[in-house]
Amino acid sequence: MARPQNFYPGEPLPDDEMRVTLLGTGTPFPRRGQAAACIFVEAAGHKFLLDCGPGAPANFTSLEIPFAEVDKVFLTHHHVDHIGGLDQFWIGGWTYGRREPLNIWGPAGTSKIIEHFQAIYEWDIETRRRVFETLAGSELVCTEYDEGVVYDHDGLKLTAFVVDHTPPQNTYGFRIEAAGRTMVFSGDTKRCQNLIDHAQNADLIIHESFPPIEIYAAKAGRPMEVAHNIAEVVHTSPREVGAVMAETNPRLGVIYHMYNNDDVVGPALLQVREKYQGRFEIGHDLMVINIGDDISVRPAVISDKPWPVRPSGEFTTAPGH
Ligand SMILES: [Zn+2]
Ligand SMILES: [Zn+2]
Repeated sequence: MARPQNFYPGEPLPDDEMRVTLLGTGTPFPRRGQAAACIFVEAAGHKFLLDCGPGAPANFTSLEIPFAEVDKVFLTHHHVDHIGGLDQFWIGGWTYGRREPLNIWGPAGTSKIIEHFQAIYEWDIETRRRVFETLAGSELVCTEYDEGVVYDHDGLKLTAFVVDHTPPQNTYGFRIEAAGRTMVFSGDTKRCQNLIDHAQNADLIIHESFPPIEIYAAKAGRPMEVAHNIAEVVHTSPREVGAVMAETNPRLGVIYHMYNNDDVVGPALLQVREKYQGRFEIGHDLMVINIGDDISVRPAVISDKPWPVRPSGEFTTAPGH
């Protein structure tokens, strides 16, 4: 299918496609050029986030999609680089147009986190309520999940599977099926057989990684042993990601959760290529992936200073103006 070379906000999504936009491909280390973990998925009329790391809400608003259209967030685990943008997305969404509750799915312990969020921002919400004259949209609805089907409604099925991250284990990956397409999101994990089992026949696999340890140790000033513990014990080296891809054979494989500096992507790709020759990308923020009969990977062309988009049906001007 012929597409524009770049993705511009507002591009229609064909009914038989899934569109995946990387809103955050980074790590717990805050960087201006790379937000922390967050993936935006659109398919079968659904729009939702997988994780919501710090920095990601600003990448979301750059897509100029009304907050009101996104009422679901699925969390893989509770590390700050995966939930640290949730408060901004929640309250920013309410104050800029969402009038329905924000629904959060997460592993055991998510309800407690949500209760704490609500306590932390009690004063915030009360003061804003007086300005906006409504609490509608300020509610958080939390559902805790276990391994298995988390969501199965209106043409969207999301299944959680246990992965192997930091003990005590409470981290999941997701298999998402909609519009006749399938994507798998690893969350955070080292090489995990359960992921490989759940990732068979996927169109797209977004797998976490960390830079090759020699580079990571040198750049980040970590002793090799510490670099190993981080990059290869609780995360997956690019070499191991290549091995996972060889066992799953997606139509497209993508690495996220990795320092993606120019001098890292080459060595990382070389490691991937030791075992895998299929189509592969190192993710960067605002990479847009359309999964249809073909798969396209394009950069989004966005404004760094977008204005809020009015809620659906209330545009006074076309989006983007
Ligand atoms: Zn983590
Ligand atoms: Zn992480």
